[in-house]
Amino acid sequence: MDAFTMIQLIAIVLLAILLVFSIFMTERKKKPEIPKRTITVIRCDNGDYETKRDFRQGDFIGKVEGKCPKCGGILRVHSIYVEEIQSAK
Ligand SMILES: [Zn+2]
Repeated sequence: MDAFTMIQLIAIVLLAILLVFSIFMTERKKKPEIPKRTITVIRCDNGDYETKRDFRQGDFIGKVEGKCPKCGGILRVHSIYVEEIQSAK
């Protein structure tokens, strides 16, 4: 009878480990599915205009991006950051 209880105990422990492992695996699988995008913030030197767009290769902080549509000042890349895209449900 003792051996039978041992087997039951081992079976329960194994099931618990399997359950934890499967939860852990699904959690890990979910992570790369979060869509991310790199955003470049462009700001006018005079601080009256700011716009955001997707990061393009060759973007760097301080890069001149053209002229401000408001005051004709210089537009520069102000910051670059990664944003998680929130799925709208
Ligand atoms: Zn401006």
